[in-house]
Amino acid sequence: MASPRPAGGELVELTAAETIERIGAGELSAEECFEAWLDAAAGDELNAYLWTADRGPRTADSNGPLRGVPIAVKDIFCTEGIPTTAGSRILQGFLPTYTATAVERLAGAGAPLLGKTNMDEFAMGSSNENSAFGPVLNPLDRARVPGGSSGGSAAAVAGGLAPWAIGTDTGGSIRQPASLCGIVGLKPTYGAVSRYGMIAFASSLDQCGPLTRDVTDAALLLRALAGRDLCDSTSIGIDGGVDLPARQDLEGLRFGVPRELSAEAEGIESGVTATFERTLEMIGELGGEVSECELPHSSHALSACYILAPAEASANLARYDGVRYGLRVDGDGDLARMYERTRSRGFGAEVKRRIMLGTYALSAGYYDAYYGQAQRVRTKISEDFATAFERFDYLVTPTSPTVAFELGARTERPLAMYLSDYCTAPMSLAGIPAISIPAGRAEPDGGGPELPVGLQICAPAFGENGLLDAASAIERAIGFRR
Ligand code: GLN
Repeated sequence: MASPRPAGGELVELTAAETIERIGAGELSAEECFEAWLDAAAGDELNAYLWTADRGPRTADSNGPLRGVPIAVKDIFCTEGIPTTAGSRILQGFLPTYTATAVERLAGAGAPLLGKTNMDEFAMGSSNENSAFGPVLNPLDRARVPGGSSGGSAAAVAGGLAPWAIGTDTGGSIRQPASLCGIVGLKPTYGAVSRYGMIAFASSLDQCGPLTRDVTDAALLLRALAGRDLCDSTSIGIDGGVDLPARQDLEGLRFGVPRELSAEAEGIESGVTATFERTLEMIGELGGEVSECELPHSSHALSACYILAPAEASANLARYDGVRYGLRVDGDGDLARMYERTRSRGFGAEVKRRIMLGTYALSAGYYDAYYGQAQRVRTKISEDFATAFERFDYLVTPTSPTVAFELGARTERPLAMYLSDYCTAPMSLAGIPAISIPAGRAEPDGGGPELPVGLQICAPAFGENGLLDAASAIERAIGFRR
């Protein structure tokens, strides 16, 4: 049955779940859907994509639950025979020989690859300005950053260049760009989704998750992504699977507001605080019980994260030696010189900074003072969450201390850039699930256009089903879906 091909513009208005319904009802074919999204992606003026799919026959199963609605994938996921750079010059020319489990699971569920998205080099950054392939622009204000490190994925979804996307989050890299671009971003529990084929930054923190227009789409993707994978011994999936959110109210649910990550936190913009407070009132109107709580060690999360992640990165990045992957710079017949030249030309400034920091933190004389101490802080932070979850079902904070900032505003000040993860790093260290949903808009401090503000909600480990339910009820009340 031939139905008129919907204009890309119309498709862009739909959530992926709505598109799936239309395909299921025969109003649209999977092929038409794919073509329309290829057209949309071809109009990328944001530098969101590093690679997009060819036209031609598809291998994904459009009978699967995701019905052929294609997915944008952060360029940190290996894709067989398709360029995979992790945003780094050192991987230019690298063609993986296998595909990441996450991408395979999505294809198996009926979501074929639409394109590979730009990102901060090796996922190190909060603005996408650390990509070797140029920054990504925020679709809501092109003079501003989309956040990072999954900035290409966030901008693609928010800018109508992809129906949905996946990214990775080590300290905030899904939630913060989702917040800055006004979409939904979910970091699942550590171990819910396989890391196999996901280029490693900090292996004890990295987690794959969805960036979507709404909470239902995030649940659909998580349902396909989560699962035990024999290729990743830290993956266990989500017991009982993932349900689609159905809850309308928050009756009987207790929400804790950690003082250290809201009222007492330094550097939270006044517009962000005002939006956050309005959202707390809305949670109350929906029947949720809101009260203040404590996460006494959470103000040290960022410091711990920026010791542990570089330490792990310094080990993970040792493999880029010019022999095995991508770039090789000639060493005039000398092996050590080849290594040196390849690494000094292949890595960008932030990656080098992290390798040096991490190597230092792991060195014999300083290991205990830095790495050991950061591990102890990590344990304290996990204990703080465990204590808070004795009294509360969920904790809520602003996702990002600020709305999207201007391109270049923080590139010369790495510590200011690192503060972007102030509210998101604690959950990464504790390995618990956390979601960012659009909560409204606010002006930046000092004036400017109104930009999206994200609300972060977190839950105990493997509490994704309840988390998605609560987030969906709040999302409905906010009515800020598109
Ligand atoms: N922004 C943090 C960093 O630069 C975290 C990045 C991430 O979550 N991948 O390391």
